[in-house]
Amino acid sequence: MQLIKNYLIKGTIVCETGMHIGGVSESLKIGGTDSPVIMNRMTNMPYIPGSSIKGKMRSLLELKHGTPWLMENGEPHKCKDQHCDLCVAFGRSADSDVNSGPTRLVVRDCHPTSETEAMWKQKDDILHGTEIKGENFLNRLTSMATPRFIERVPAGSTFAFEMVFSLFDPKDENRLKLVFEAMTLLEDNYLGGYGSRGSGKITFCDIELKEKTSDDYKIGKDWHPYEKVSGAGSAHEILERL
Ligand SMILES: [Zn+2]
Repeated sequence: MQLIKNYLIKGTIVCETGMHIGGVSESLKIGGTDSPVIMNRMTNMPYIPGSSIKGKMRSLLELKHGTPWLMENGEPHKCKDQHCDLCVAFGRSADSDVNSGPTRLVVRDCHPTSETEAMWKQKDDILHGTEIKGENFLNRLTSMATPRFIERVPAGSTFAFEMVFSLFDPKDENRLKLVFEAMTLLEDNYLGGYGSRGSGKITFCDIELKEKTSDDYKIGKDWHPYEKVSGAGSAHEILERL
């Protein structure tokens, strides 16, 4: 087994609605919200962990494809099939003894774009990149409302995303399609919490798919566009051409 080439998938994640990816609760702090978003401790600004994106993409693929990817007990999929496309592309648990080479897909943490950081700073109701959304629980009999407060990254925020997909086997070309299929599934689902109540709609925009072959690494040649998908900028357009 050896590296044939790497693909770079990069672009922008646009939050079409507010988005909540949960962080550490600060409810003991005075004025803390009930449900804070995850923050980059260096910048005190929200970010999207690569693991959140990857985990959601994987779970949507399991649900879409069903058995054998979807486990009967609802636990995350694992198997002993060396050629399982899902496990080869998205990885196996650390205690797995099945060897199918390195996990093909790497998803980086996504940080806000400079335009978005500037937008957050301009708005008075946005603190550390988040807005506060109040929600009420109604008592069914008395109609008494109990409020709670959720932090969200405001709609319109954008984050730079980057994934690397490594090709070790010609069969991995088909597994790359799974990544784009999962991206389109995610766009029609949600990222983070409170999705069934309106949060977390995202779109992958201005996607570039580039490649770097094993020989390119040898001679120091940088990423170059993957010609097969030239002109396509959305996940579904790229998937159509792969
Ligand atoms: Zn599997």
